[in-house]
Amino acid sequence: MVNEYEIKKEICEIGKRIYNKGMVAANDGNISVKISENEFLCTPTGVSKGFMTPEYICKVDKEGKVIQANGSYKPSSEIKMHMRVYRERPDVNAVVHAHPMYATSFAIAGIPLSQPIMPEAVISLGCVPIAEYGTPSTEEIPDAVSKYLQHFDSVLLANHGALSFSDTLLNAYFKMESTEFYAQLLYQSKVLGGPKELSDAQVQRLYEIRRQFGLKGKHPADLCVNNKMGKPSCHNCGGCSSSSSSEDSSDLVASITKKVMEQLGL
Ligand SMILES: [Zn+2]
Repeated sequence: MVNEYEIKKEICEIGKRIYNKGMVAANDGNISVKISENEFLCTPTGVSKGFMTPEYICKVDKEGKVIQANGSYKPSSEIKMHMRVYRERPDVNAVVHAHPMYATSFAIAGIPLSQPIMPEAVISLGCVPIAEYGTPSTEEIPDAVSKYLQHFDSVLLANHGALSFSDTLLNAYFKMESTEFYAQLLYQSKVLGGPKELSDAQVQRLYEIRRQFGLKGKHPADLCVNNKMGKPSCHNCGGCSSSSSSEDSSDLVASITKKVMEQLGL
């Protein structure tokens, strides 16, 4: 039996962390936790996530309709985005949405986090794609996020922020923290002249470690559509983290490179 009050306290604690770490400004961001098949706790709209107490937390059903809310508190306006994640990912029990500085900057610049630059990011996240822009509070963001849900546990939202999800609230928060740390490292290394990427063989060894650990959640190491077709997965091809047109062009580049190498006898 879940202790709702304890979960509400944990939501407040994670709210403080995302606020104190500068991952949200003012009243931005939202957090939710699944407590049963038809009951979810979520943060209210219009309040700072850094100053919440358990009474602030609302309860909604799987359609996002209010089951319980105190005073004038109303569930987050982004609750549809959370509900889409729960509907399409039965393994997910918590969702965190924030606007961390570096991850959001990449989301605004239209650059997915797909360069393999450090082992922890490759193992825990793989790549972090960018879901197409949608107007907040409409079905546009849930629709845009949907196509990435079966391959990733963290997604950037174009011109907006980031969305992370996992089996527990702490793990969903850690996915957000890891996404931001990855984005920050990528940014800083670009400033220093560009990252030296891990090689394909190094990436494959890290993927193998992830498989051996039996880590939960979705990861392009196992699920990348290109990988399934026997092609290199997204750290190598960019396939899962870019639009279909650039997927085609990366395929084209790969086949041209292969032909050139053959002609050179390499
Ligand atoms: Zn937002």
